[in-house]
Amino acid sequence: MMDVKSVPLSEEKSFKKIVRKTLYRRRAALQSNPALRGLFRVLALFLGGILASCAGLRPVTQQDTPAPPESIAPEIIPGPLERVIKRIKANSVDINKYFLQDDDSNIHVLADLSEDDETFTVRYDVAGAVPIEGGYRLHFTVEQKDVGISREDSLEWFITGDRSGILLAFDDDFRDAWEGIFDLLDRNGARVTFFMQGSLSPFCMKAQERGHEIGYHTKEHLNLTLISREEFYRQTLSDIGTFRDAGVPLRAFAYPFGLSEPWMHEILLDNFAVLRGFGVRYRVYNPETIRQGYIGSISIDNILYENDADFYRTIGLMLRITKFIGGDTIIPMTTHDISGAAGWGISPVRLEYLLQNAAALKLRFYRYGDFF
Ligand SMILES: [Zn+2]
Repeated sequence: MMDVKSVPLSEEKSFKKIVRKTLYRRRAALQSNPALRGLFRVLALFLGGILASCAGLRPVTQQDTPAPPESIAPEIIPGPLERVIKRIKANSVDINKYFLQDDDSNIHVLADLSEDDETFTVRYDVAGAVPIEGGYRLHFTVEQKDVGISREDSLEWFITGDRSGILLAFDDDFRDAWEGIFDLLDRNGARVTFFMQGSLSPFCMKAQERGHEIGYHTKEHLNLTLISREEFYRQTLSDIGTFRDAGVPLRAFAYPFGLSEPWMHEILLDNFAVLRGFGVRYRVYNPETIRQGYIGSISIDNILYENDADFYRTIGLMLRITKFIGGDTIIPMTTHDISGAAGWGISPVRLEYLLQNAAALKLRFYRYGDFF
């Protein structure tokens, strides 16, 4: 951990430059003012005389006036950087954090800040966060753009309740397996969305009674981009009346395989409040962007993780990032079957990890229809 006032090696050069510049300015001011110059000479001779008489040293002349002591260093550290560090350490809510996923799937959490017309970029080490009582301690690096000065420090982040949350969904038709997790969901205060493929079934009522939501996932799970318009209507709209008449509102629709074309959005948004695609990149939303009508959800199926440790590391990090960005940030996550053996599904132990971590981070569980 690095102290605020310590200066990393990379800064040494520019730091020396600042010291030199300051000294030059002081000397210049002195030399341009004859009155000050005279006063300074008298003072120097007087002090030199005292020193010489005490220690037997030769008198100090203007030529070898001692350099200012090291202690002047703190007062010449640039003010805006200090103030920005203070804001970052306070983790104030006005800092707009965001994340980027690079081509190697590494996720970076950043924020751009400005202070006194200077701009700064902060990089937060959310992955390396260390648990402390009630939260985490995490390192950050802040860089003053243009100047190229950067500092490292850490902050204490305490978990509080806000509107950030998770939009957890299960697709297709694994009604028996899904019924088997109702109690697990309850224990973690989780409400989820089941995107049902096929016809209305008693499962829909049971899920709603337990506080969950039913979304629609077409009649037969065909690739909608490969069928006729007529077939498209049959697959997506012909049966929704039977659900709605039975009190299942079907506010949300998920494309089979996540595949769609823009013209489909238009037709389906006349019939559903929100449409959902599918992908392997993490995306976060907020109520406003969800209400725009289309979101993409990451798949958290077994097949995408090498082992449990890989799942815990990745999902644990994404949940933590969602909470750290905070505010009303919402992350959609989607899986299918509940089984360790299923490629397109989630093992019960992974699901439990996810639910417990989300609850521990005080992330809210949202259903798709909650935003309408
Ligand atoms: Zn599906």
